[in-house]
Amino acid sequence: MLIVQKYGGTSVGGLDRIESVAGRVAKAKRDGNSLVVVVSAMSGETNKLVGYAQHFSKTPAKREMDMLLSSGERVTAALLSIALQEMGIDAVGMTGRQAGILTDINHTYARIESIDTTTIKRELDSGKVVVVAGFQGINTTGQVTTLGRGGSDLSAVAIAGALDADVCEIYSDVDGIYTTDPRIEPKAKKMDFISYDEMLELASLGAKVLQNRSVELAKKLSVKIVAKSSFSDAEGTVISKESEEMEEVLVSGIALDKNQARVTLREVMDRPGIAAEIFTSLADEQINVDMIIQNASTDGTTNLGFTIPSSELERAREVIANFSHDYGAVDYDEGVCKVSVVGVGMKSHSGVAAKAFSILAKNNINIEMISTSEIKVSMIIDEKYGELAVRTLHSVYDLDS
Ligand code: ASP
Ligand code: MG
Repeated sequence: MLIVQKYGGTSVGGLDRIESVAGRVAKAKRDGNSLVVVVSAMSGETNKLVGYAQHFSKTPAKREMDMLLSSGERVTAALLSIALQEMGIDAVGMTGRQAGILTDINHTYARIESIDTTTIKRELDSGKVVVVAGFQGINTTGQVTTLGRGGSDLSAVAIAGALDADVCEIYSDVDGIYTTDPRIEPKAKKMDFISYDEMLELASLGAKVLQNRSVELAKKLSVKIVAKSSFSDAEGTVISKESEEMEEVLVSGIALDKNQARVTLREVMDRPGIAAEIFTSLADEQINVDMIIQNASTDGTTNLGFTIPSSELERAREVIANFSHDYGAVDYDEGVCKVSVVGVGMKSHSGVAAKAFSILAKNNINIEMISTSEIKVSMIIDEKYGELAVRTLHSVYDLDS
């Protein structure tokens, strides 16, 4: 098999950890696989480098930040190669540039445009393990770029896609994706498999496991991901295309998002174009609007409610202040959260949403807003009931172990 393995910061967090990763890589190689290993910087290293830059400047030049931060991953790639060589495994370390990773020109948040796999393939053909520094590439003008925080996952998925690898294993200190946050519901269990779309909807459950952008890329390139722990031999969670097996499971997981705020505009003039104006202005400020509800109008005015991340509330206030002539009053409510029930099985089963609404009603939890898609039901509720709602839903859909 051709395997791309990616090891995150905690997995390579110290020299002993790098040694243990080398052992894992060596074993996979001796089992007869071809291997590309993508590594993150040792844990804490990228933040430490950011701190160094901030010692000199609050707004360091982005080009120099890329020079600086890309070094963390190079260190790990070189050390892992040395450790492998010492174990008798032929290994070669590469920077993003040497691995042929070409990006657009955006420093600190570049997008991978293409990968020239010539060098990687040549080294693989000669029997070497190729160790690639994640999180970085080079742009058309020859400058080093980085891919945004957590970007090593993206490097791994992109390389797996370009090489048409059999699997992309993403190693962290968590052994997979759980049906909900185990800190909220200790009965949460590890999933064996999940589809890309479910994973994207359950992003908060995967936050410590893999970067969301890399899941989008994996979906686009049809790269099968396995999220595993480098601290155990547990099986991990497969993230792949939807299968019939997946549809048999009604609900895969329950996610809670506390970073939610609700904005309600009252007595909004009911005229064409007003929603367009408000939401265009919010979008221009990069404010992400999630759910939107507009009531039927009475007396030529209507109420318009929507949710945004709480972290964007201050900017939203400024934008909305500019619409003072078109509405009567505005309320902001930070005390809400979003609970989402996710599963591809919903496509072929009815009554999933009704069940969620009933169980919350039975627990006296008021649902303030609802939005649904083919594979999810999201509800805005009072933040104080968020964790109770998660536990209740987890149990009603038989997810408790
Ligand atoms: N070292 C980078 C970061 O901390 C990239 C990564 O680990 O994926 O964001
Ligand atoms: Mg990471």
